Amino acid sequence: MRVSRYFLPILRDDPKEAEIVSHRLMLRTGMIRQESAGIYSWLPLGFRVLKKIEQIVREEQNRAGAIEVLMPTIQSADLWRKSGRYDDYGAEMLRIKDRHERDMLYGPTNEEMITDIFRSGVQSYKDLPRSLYHIQWKFRDEIRPRFGVMRGREFLMKDGYSFDLSAEEGRHSYNKMFLAYLRTYKRMGLTAIPMRAETGPIGGDLSHEFLILADTGESEVFFDRGYLDMDWTTAKIDNDDVAGLQGAIDEFTSLYAATDEMHDAAEFETRVEAGRRVNGRGIEVGHIFFFGTKYSEPLGCVVQGRDGEPITIHSGSYGIGVSRLAGAIIEASHDENGIVWPEAVAPFKVGLINLKAGDATVDKACEDLYAKLEGAGVEVLYDDTEERAGAKFAVMDLIGLPWQLVVGPRGLADGMVELKNRKTGERESVSPEDAVTRLA
Ligand code: ATP
Ligand code: MG
Ligand code: MG
Ligand code: MG
Repeated sequence: MRVSRYFLPILRDDPKEAEIVSHRLMLRTGMIRQESAGIYSWLPLGFRVLKKIEQIVREEQNRAGAIEVLMPTIQSADLWRKSGRYDDYGAEMLRIKDRHERDMLYGPTNEEMITDIFRSGVQSYKDLPRSLYHIQWKFRDEIRPRFGVMRGREFLMKDGYSFDLSAEEGRHSYNKMFLAYLRTYKRMGLTAIPMRAETGPIGGDLSHEFLILADTGESEVFFDRGYLDMDWTTAKIDNDDVAGLQGAIDEFTSLYAATDEMHDAAEFETRVEAGRRVNGRGIEVGHIFFFGTKYSEPLGCVVQGRDGEPITIHSGSYGIGVSRLAGAIIEASHDENGIVWPEAVAPFKVGLINLKAGDATVDKACEDLYAKLEGAGVEVLYDDTEERAGAKFAVMDLIGLPWQLVVGPRGLADGMVELKNRKTGERESVSPEDAVTRLA
């Protein structure tokens, strides 16, 4: 992509309404624009990041055996009346009437709908277990939408649902998702800590929230610092080995970690020695629940067992805040000059900077690098404009692409270009050929 043809509405000054760094940087870099309270447009740069986050989530869901579907944003109130949540959900639910005066709503979550879909699509025990998920916009009329996409009213969520014949099998589905979540966050460069959590309006008894640490997080967290050194990525875990997976999950949850809602000060002090106690703040980036027959019972989600007996299905639900993650990743990865994108979610991998646009030699070298990198499948944002060099550097630092490739007449005279690592700030002089090899 050439900057001269892109839509990159960078703000010169810090927006006044932004209280936290991710919100400020997302507005300044033109990733998002607020359309009304808690409702955002995703502009080109932000949209690319959102799609990358979504794709990582999708790949890890698929890897865990979940199957993707897409349910609508607008739901009928009928199923919600059956589950009893139409009244329980309260003011957070955006209620709508259609032209026939039918009660509709903008879905805040999808337990009812997916349970009904599953119920109508299966007959017997042979059709289980299954997990279905979708990645779809939700609406919750939050009292205080704030911090940009971190607490929006309209937000993108991955929500998945498992269907099993028994509580034990349901537990295994829960464990698979638990592991998929750890993998998902890790791929985005985040350390997410699983914490025991309350189940809230969704109900049930087994539940964990995944939190990433940030001073601006809305949850207070208490945990054993051992979590910060725990490296589960090297553990060999087979998803189909029920006992093995349970053992691994037991280990990942063996240390104390709880949000304020579940925190037990006495237990914290007994289980964790003083030097290892951490009390900080965190951002909830995912939440998993196992709630058994809470929805399948009222909604009649029953299949025939081996001997013809009816079995009420056991379910769990599994949410990831896809749009919140865009903000959360910035909270975890930025410096005084701007965003520092982890490569896996960066809008482009490389920012190619032409220091003397209009100079035939420099233009040619840049065009050549641009073509070669694109040809090798590398995503490049090429600043081919006639802005001053200083302004170009500042914008590239601000938008935080992992690599900057700087091409100017002086370097080229020696056959060299400069490769800068945004995160470390290290600069290296390399030949254009080497630059391509390094980045491809
Ligand atoms: P919170 O405690 O932040 O209000 P929640 O517990 O109400 O979140 P869940 O019902 O657990 O949210 O939804 C699953 C995930 O969706 C959350 O872990 C979070 O990452 C994301 N999420 C929830 N509400 C919002 C929101 N208003 N804006 C952006 N993401 C959200
Ligand atoms: Mg909430
Ligand atoms: Mg919560
Ligand atoms: Mg939650």
